[in-house]
Amino acid sequence: MPAALLITGASQLLTLRGRGPRRGNSLCNLGIIKDGALLVREGLIAAVGPRGKVEGSAEAKSAEKMDLGGRVVLPGFVDSHTHLIHAGSRAEEYELKIEGASYEEIARKGGGILNSVKKLRAATAGALKKRAHAALAQFASYGTTTIEAKSGYGLDVENELKILELHRELSGEQPLEIASTFLGAHVVPEEFRARADGAAKYVELLISTLMPEVARLELAEFCDVFCERGAFTLDQSKTILDAGRRQGLAPRIHAEQLSRTGATQLAAEIGAASCDHLEQVNKDDIRALGKSNTVATLLPGCDFHLGLKQYAQARALIDAGAIVALATDYNPGTSPTLSMPMILSLACTQLRMTPAEAIAAATINAAYALRREKRIGSLEVGKQADLAVFGVADYREIPYYFGMNTCSMTMKRGVVIHGAV
Ligand SMILES: [Zn+2]
Repeated sequence: MPAALLITGASQLLTLRGRGPRRGNSLCNLGIIKDGALLVREGLIAAVGPRGKVEGSAEAKSAEKMDLGGRVVLPGFVDSHTHLIHAGSRAEEYELKIEGASYEEIARKGGGILNSVKKLRAATAGALKKRAHAALAQFASYGTTTIEAKSGYGLDVENELKILELHRELSGEQPLEIASTFLGAHVVPEEFRARADGAAKYVELLISTLMPEVARLELAEFCDVFCERGAFTLDQSKTILDAGRRQGLAPRIHAEQLSRTGATQLAAEIGAASCDHLEQVNKDDIRALGKSNTVATLLPGCDFHLGLKQYAQARALIDAGAIVALATDYNPGTSPTLSMPMILSLACTQLRMTPAEAIAAATINAAYALRREKRIGSLEVGKQADLAVFGVADYREIPYYFGMNTCSMTMKRGVVIHGAV
């Protein structure tokens, strides 16, 4: 049996320990241990606590040693909303937006998501994989150890399956864990748009052809829908998510990003794993999320990149008792970042979340959004030794240094996957 690993020298060890997702006042509870230590055995946490306690055991004494020299340690970030697989940037649209074109205007001119669809269909699986590998290494370099990844730039049987198969292959080829989501309902593809009943026909293709294939090949855990003006209506979203559930795919939804559609109420009603974006929610939506177990995932990177002034009402959601999570929404159109520390900075200054709340939202609550809270999201005995080490003296410095990367080491299941001490 390989020796255990004793990790000491954590000036602040943020355990995020405790039962249940963080709601309301408990969101800022990080479970900090000063001068903390961890004992890791076979990729799992065997002991965690103050150094004096952890290093005293016989196993700790014979373990391999790692001294972090006074850094801050927290659970690896869980990025619960990404569009990992895409073929290239949309920098040309970025410039158009700066010059005044709206996201929806660009979409009407064949830009936006359809632009990414064209690029993806033209790309080989090999090229897409190479790009994704580089992105995954970057995620790790910012302290992220688990991501969710959506399809949605293929929008036909061949290309949606190509993306989902890449999720599976990438899971076996690199250390980050990938939770795969089927987002065939991202937008209606070009070839269905000319006919009056095109949207209905595309929904039929999703439900009767694509989804059964995704389920049969076990290529996804979740089914997502972009419920939005110009994408899918509330009724279509419900039909798709219900069908997904019958195929064993748990629902999640893009809700109230650019317009209010009622998707939040639908998410709460059907017990969706998460309901993401939420810039346009009203009081009833906030109340519904406060009472539900559906995670409210906020994506401030989108508003920042699009230059929009209306960020989600994080404070109202937290006060109502909603389970608030944060994610990057890494994608080429609206949020081209994979830096969770940058998202924490935006959460602090734009969503008025405290640094502690932002960290809990990006770790334990995000683990709930991916239904992985029993394995990841906190540093507790029996959970995976997934951790991020930051070269700062105080955890508040992680969002404070915006646009900078202070992550000095990342560990997945007890193995260093980025940096060194
Ligand atoms: Zn998204």
